[in-house]
Amino acid sequence: MSFQKVRGFHDLFGEELRKFRHVSNTVREYLKRYNFEEIILPVVEYAQLFERSIGEFTDIVQKEMFVFPDKKGRLLALRPEGTAGAVRAYVENKIYALKPYWKVFYEGPMFRYERPQAGRYRQFHQLGAEVFGILDPIVDAEMINLIYKVVSELKIDAHIEINSIGCRKCRPAYREALVEYLESVSGHLCDVCLERKDKNPLRVLDCKVPTCQQAVYHAPKMVDFLCDECREHYEKLKEYLNMMDVPYVENYNLVRGLDYYTKTVFEIVSQELGITIVAGGRYDYLVEDMGGPPTPAVGFAVGLERVALLVKDLPEEEPLYFIVAFDEVRDYALKVADILRNEGKRVELSYKRGSIKKQLELANKLKADYAVIIGPDEKSEGSITLKDLHTGEQKKVYLSTSL
Ligand code: ATP
Ligand code: MG
Repeated sequence: MSFQKVRGFHDLFGEELRKFRHVSNTVREYLKRYNFEEIILPVVEYAQLFERSIGEFTDIVQKEMFVFPDKKGRLLALRPEGTAGAVRAYVENKIYALKPYWKVFYEGPMFRYERPQAGRYRQFHQLGAEVFGILDPIVDAEMINLIYKVVSELKIDAHIEINSIGCRKCRPAYREALVEYLESVSGHLCDVCLERKDKNPLRVLDCKVPTCQQAVYHAPKMVDFLCDECREHYEKLKEYLNMMDVPYVENYNLVRGLDYYTKTVFEIVSQELGITIVAGGRYDYLVEDMGGPPTPAVGFAVGLERVALLVKDLPEEEPLYFIVAFDEVRDYALKVADILRNEGKRVELSYKRGSIKKQLELANKLKADYAVIIGPDEKSEGSITLKDLHTGEQKKVYLSTSL
């Protein structure tokens, strides 16, 4: 009998995992510089949390959630994203009463029942950051700048898209104008968009079907409907981004697939793959809607697998020392391995006995950088013979001296 992984789920290892970790470490490094703290959130939450926050008529809630009853029949869900859980934690732990504002990040697996394809899995990983409690667009600018720095450091060819989708004051009028416009072009919309038109009309703007994209080309733009507060917020954001030399393009059709966003929305889009690798925005009502005090907030989530796909070069690994030894001095070899590891070196001790030649072949197979050769002379002198496997150079080193 043999087993296979579940469709859409994957094993992460080897080079792919090294790239994945490199991305995660780089994001974490910048989050540290911006003074974010970490939270580890549960993978399972009540399904209602996501229905209420992400929105009933979104793709995630309607089609993509893994929902199952527990033994008492309560509906649980594998989390499809991190913001809802972060908001729940903020409210439930009354963090608003403990801190003037909260800068927090989370990392972990997310689950969405989607059609698997390149860069799209049913279990994938996000590293997301949120700032709770600040309305100032300076935070939106910082978030975009932070993630721009990460992408630049990773040498990924990508651009930033921004838009404003307004607030409760200004969006209804826009929505009305948009629905009216969509009615007039309904003959050109795909079936999904015909349904979205009534339930979630903004989503029609970012439909990928070419006829829909053409149909919305002349649609009214949210930016033309922004109230004074939202307009000012958006103008300030652009001013701050310009000040920090962060390049961006305005995409008036950028709306995001989750209902909770207000004002700023942004995405980082890979030139190479033509897909979004980081997405985020502001959600100024969500905390209140989830039972907390009125608290503006802004966040983003990095799709770690997708960014890892774009990483070309990895930082060099620590050199590998491979210890080969004559059978009669394997006790000394074990001791030498211990000494070198105590110095912090990456050490592999040949588990193969027998000829030094055979052991050296193993060192090459494991891509070791140095062979540490140990015979009876070395044992009696307290030395090792160090061979550089790249150049072939060999020298004797006494263990009191550093390698
Ligand atoms: P898409 O439009 O590609 O479906 P999305 O709008 O659903 O993305 P978000 O919910 O904003 O994506 O998630 C943020 C990021 O998480 C995405 O930009 C992407 O990098 C990553 N992501 C989302 N869904 C998946 C998935 N199924 N597999 C891998 N990565 C994903
Ligand atoms: Mg999606």
